[in-house]
Amino acid sequence: MNDAFSRRADRLAGELATAGPDDSPVDSLLVTNLTNVEYLTGFTGTNGACLIGSESRLFLTDFRYAERAEEIDGWEVRIVSGQWLEGLAGELAGTVGFEDDQVTVRTANQLREAASGAELVEAGGKVELLRRVKDDWEIQRIAAAASLTDQLYGLLLERGLTGSTEAELDGWLTGWMRQQGAEPSFPPIVASGPNGASPHAEPGPREIRAGELVTVDMGVRLDGYCSDCTRTFATGAEDSLDDLALEIYEVTLRANEAGLAAVRAGATGAAIDEVSRAVIREAGYGENFGHGLGHGVGLEIHEAPRLGPSSKDELIAGEVVTVEPGIYLSGATGVRIEDLVVVGADGVDRNLSSIPKKLTFA
Ligand code: ZN
Ligand code: ZN
Repeated sequence: MNDAFSRRADRLAGELATAGPDDSPVDSLLVTNLTNVEYLTGFTGTNGACLIGSESRLFLTDFRYAERAEEIDGWEVRIVSGQWLEGLAGELAGTVGFEDDQVTVRTANQLREAASGAELVEAGGKVELLRRVKDDWEIQRIAAAASLTDQLYGLLLERGLTGSTEAELDGWLTGWMRQQGAEPSFPPIVASGPNGASPHAEPGPREIRAGELVTVDMGVRLDGYCSDCTRTFATGAEDSLDDLALEIYEVTLRANEAGLAAVRAGATGAAIDEVSRAVIREAGYGENFGHGLGHGVGLEIHEAPRLGPSSKDELIAGEVVTVEPGIYLSGATGVRIEDLVVVGADGVDRNLSSIPKKLTFA
């Protein structure tokens, strides 16, 4: 087991002094969100929880995972017969922070019963804050997921787009990911012609023809970590695409590059969004870019920080974020260009998306 995990637990334990409401101290933190549990321990089962004190590390799961739990170093492992809650009786003392943004009302009530004598306080979002900055081990995994996605884009272009339906390409892309031992990090988007005008189009029976734009947004989850990349391609001969399509492609590409140039530690999500959005607005398409510029990527496909008009998140070196401006013309067509990058102190430290962004005819 990688010692990055024990460093994460230590970092979280170091936050106990301010983990409660209004930065008040807690004696321990109960982590029940499974993605956060995975982040702290590497455990990937469906029933697990961590109770972390300044010196103590208690991990709870049930008998199905007894073998897997043996691989978790540095934690006292307790195997319970049912839900993790059962193993907590007698463990909760003093002030215990819990993930109020994750726990159901029912579980919160059960927790209160189990915690007689202890004070439960709201302490959600602490592990998510730690998760924003990726260590080298995590960046390697995200880079590997991004590289597999790039490989798949290359194969897609070799295969060609014209003549297939969106749904056929979706099945082909997803099948290839699974053959490689990966999963789609989200259902791929293949949006052709007028369907490209919807940012979240679902692949359907529409057959892709020559002379149109096709937006493909996909990523894989590999060894737990996600990738995310969008490219818009053109089909048919170079002279078959109309001028409007060429224009919105060119504007979106400039917006993508401006956004990338604005990424740096210390910049807010809103400031970076505005730099990219201004390019689209000044070209006359401000109304046609209706979503935020980007998001963090890690164990989850969408995580903190956010890049968008109202985001106060200040970027930190070591975060991995997307930059994905788009222009969507209702009933006509659309373009989105998305890169996945590592934030550095003075700019993008590394762009993990290597598929060329010059308009490609496939
Ligand atoms: Zn995407
Ligand atoms: Zn994205």
